[in-house]
Amino acid sequence: MRVLGIETSCDETGVALYDTERGLAADALHSQIAMHAEYGGVVPELASRDHTRRLLPLIQTVLSDAGVSRGELDAIAYTAGPGLVGALMVGASTAHGMARALDIPVLGVHHMEGHLLAPMLEDAPPAFPFVALLVSGGHTQLVEVEGLGRYRLLGESVDDAAGEAFDKAAKMLGLDYPGGPAVARLAETGDPTRFRFPRPMTDRPGLDFSFSGLKTHTLTAIRKLEADGELDDAARADVARAFEEAVVDTLVIKCRRALDQTGLKRLVVAGGVSANARLRERLGLETAKRSAEVFYPRGRFCTDNGAMIAYVGAQRLLAGEHDTVGQMQAVPRWPMDGLEPPAGR
Ligand code: ATP
Ligand code: MG
Ligand code: FE
Repeated sequence: MRVLGIETSCDETGVALYDTERGLAADALHSQIAMHAEYGGVVPELASRDHTRRLLPLIQTVLSDAGVSRGELDAIAYTAGPGLVGALMVGASTAHGMARALDIPVLGVHHMEGHLLAPMLEDAPPAFPFVALLVSGGHTQLVEVEGLGRYRLLGESVDDAAGEAFDKAAKMLGLDYPGGPAVARLAETGDPTRFRFPRPMTDRPGLDFSFSGLKTHTLTAIRKLEADGELDDAARADVARAFEEAVVDTLVIKCRRALDQTGLKRLVVAGGVSANARLRERLGLETAKRSAEVFYPRGRFCTDNGAMIAYVGAQRLLAGEHDTVGQMQAVPRWPMDGLEPPAGR
């Protein structure tokens, strides 16, 4: 089955073609990062307009890279949510329009299920069951995964997501949006012993997270350095390092707990923050210690992409799931607990 995947939930237009026999045949992405950078964050109306401009040419590119004609498509999958409603509607209406014209099935996919299963596109994919840490711009969740659509939420952030905290810390440090990669780069030269930031919610049992306090902590540290006339490049790097260590250490502690609690030996880490090198290094050591394994998507599939949507769509479409003709879905808020395995599985 050849499935075209379309992702437009936020600030990247992603398209891919997944063939259930041959695997991923092609993928393409247009990131709007440069366009939003001057505003310091995503401007929803600009995002929708840009998806409208980019989507059809990207679909053309993917089809020609894959050597597949429109008529050879078997189905279309698109991100139905969660995300920015205007941005979602661009992908949803394009997918439904194309599917109607080609008379093939179409399915709205959950964006976080896409992130969660993105490691399935790699050469040595994880087997079920596993523990998943979803760490992106809008989510920080630990999920016990038994199979496609069988997800149990173990814990999540009660306030900011880890990626959001990176983005806010970056702003305070005068770095560009999106902040994660910029903070990580600056942190490389920082002294890890100069400041120690708290590891929120690790002193009590449970698998929930809280990252908003770290924001305040970062701001306080920067203000104090400024007041003392010590806020130079080296000091900024030290703050970035302390911040990154605190976030990474907190994530590692909770992953360890989730593995203990479930007795599982496989950990999947996905979403934008899973690209973080320090996090990967620490989780590598931690899982090796307990003869567990850790799985990630390849670098460019950590953040938003069409491949993960094509993949999840293909699994569900194969099982016979599809949208009602003419009823596109665009669901801005959509908790993942509501997902179910495809009917008949
Ligand atoms: P969601 O998937 O929750 O709706 P999103 O789609 O905006 O949110 P992603 O595209 O998965 O999130 O990830 C983007 C986030 O990942 C940003 O917050 C960014 O700062 C962060 N990020 C990307 N690379 C790194 C890195 N190397 N270190 C830390 N954070 C990173
Ligand atoms: Mg993004
Ligand atoms: Fe995302």
